[in-house]
Amino acid sequence: MGVKVAKFGGTSAADAIQIEKIKNIVMSDPERRYVVVSAPGKRFAGDNKITDLLYLCKAQIDHNAPYDQVFQVVHDRFAAMALSLGVNIDMAEKFEEIKTALRDNPSADYIASRGEYLNAIIIAAYLGYSFIDTAGLVLFDKKGKFLHDETQLALQAELSKHERAVLPGFYGTYPDGRIKTFSRGGSDITGAIVASAAEADMYENWTDVSGFLMADPRIVKNPRAISRLSYMELRELSYMGASVLHENAVYPARQANIPINIRNTNDPDAPGTIITAEEDERDESFGIITGIAGSKDFSVLAVYKNMMSTEIGFIRRLLSVFEDYNIPVEHIPSGVDTVSIVVAKEYLEDKITDIIEDFERKAQPDSIEVFEDMALIATVGRGMASRPGVSAKLFTALSESGINIRMIDQGSSEMNIIIGVENKDFESAVRAIYNAFVN
Ligand code: ASP
Repeated sequence: MGVKVAKFGGTSAADAIQIEKIKNIVMSDPERRYVVVSAPGKRFAGDNKITDLLYLCKAQIDHNAPYDQVFQVVHDRFAAMALSLGVNIDMAEKFEEIKTALRDNPSADYIASRGEYLNAIIIAAYLGYSFIDTAGLVLFDKKGKFLHDETQLALQAELSKHERAVLPGFYGTYPDGRIKTFSRGGSDITGAIVASAAEADMYENWTDVSGFLMADPRIVKNPRAISRLSYMELRELSYMGASVLHENAVYPARQANIPINIRNTNDPDAPGTIITAEEDERDESFGIITGIAGSKDFSVLAVYKNMMSTEIGFIRRLLSVFEDYNIPVEHIPSGVDTVSIVVAKEYLEDKITDIIEDFERKAQPDSIEVFEDMALIATVGRGMASRPGVSAKLFTALSESGINIRMIDQGSSEMNIIIGVENKDFESAVRAIYNAFVN
C-alpha cells in the first residue's frame, strides 16, 4: 500500500461541517495515512481566521490592552467544533494551559501556533488517528533557519511509530524548545516536509479551489483548470502572481520527487492539478500553453547610450545602482544601444530622482526615460519551446485586440514569454491571450 500525505488548509478545516468533509476524504482512501492541518480559516466572507485572532491577542498583550474577549472568540470556535464533532477531549484543560502561558506574554509565534495545535488535536480525535505534535520534530536552528536533514530524521523516527496520524502545520521549534513558525500560509510547507519524511507517493494539498486555473477567474470567465503542471512552470506562474500553494512548499516535495496534487475539499471528485517533475517536452498531453499570470504596477527605466553594446561594464554599472538601493530587478530586456530595467513600482516611489542621478554619474547614458504603470504578463508552458508560431499567435491576438505591447522578454528556457503592457490594458491582454490559445 502506498502512502499519501493530505494537508488541509484553513477553509477546509474552518468548522465542524468542513471537518466532516475531511473525514470522508481521508476515510475514502486508506493510503491517506498522514494528515497535516492548518488552523481554522474563514467560514464565510468577512469571518476571521483563527491565526489572525491569535496575532491580535498578542498585539493586545503587547499594548497592555485586555485580550480576554478576542481569546474568548477563539475558545468558543474550538469548543463549538469539538462539541459538534462529539470528540472526547478535555478542551478546558488545553485552554487553561494556553491561558497560563499568555500571562507571561509569550512570543507571537507561540500564540499563532496554537490554532494549528488545537485543530490537529480535535481532528486527530475525530478521525481516530494519533496526534503528533510538530514541536520538537520540525526543527530550526537558533537563528530560525529551517533544518531539513535533522527534521527528516526526527519526523521519520516519530512517524514510524504511528500507522496513522494528524500533525499541526505551520510551526516547529528552536533548539531550546521555543516555538518557531514558518511565514504565513506555512502549513503547506509542513505538509511537504511530512510527505518527504513519510516517503509519500503523493502530497495532496486540499484547499478550496479545484487546482490551478489557466488564468485568474476574476479576469477570464470560467478559465480551464490546469490538470498537470511541472515544478518549473509552477514557479513561473506563482512568481507572476498565481497563488494557490506557498512557494516554499515546492522545494521539499520536488527534492524528494513527490508529486503534489492540489484538490478541492468542497469538490472532492474533481481531479485537481498534479504537479510533477519535468517530463519529455514533446509529451502531447500538455497543451501549448499551461497558464497565464501577471501583475500590475511595474516601472520601466529605458536607458539609451550610443555604442552601448561595445562599452564594457555598462549594464553592471547600471545594475549596481539598484543594488545600492536594495531594489530587486525583475527583467532586463535589451537592444543594441538600449537596455530597459523593469522594477516593481513600490520600490521606486520616492527614490526615482536619486536613482537617475546615480545612473548619470556612474554610467553617463545619453538618455533615460521612465515609463510607469506597466503590467507584466507571463504566458507559460513548456509546450511552447517545441512548437513554431507560438509568439506569432500571441502577438497577433494582442494586436487584433488593439493592445500596444511595450516590452517583450523571453527567457532562455523558452517556457515563458513575458510581455509588458500598460496597466489599463492588463485585463484585456490576458483575455486576448487566453482566447487565442484556449478557445
Ligand atoms: N494558519 C497559518 C496562516 O493563517 C498557516 C496556514 O494556514 O498555513 O497563515
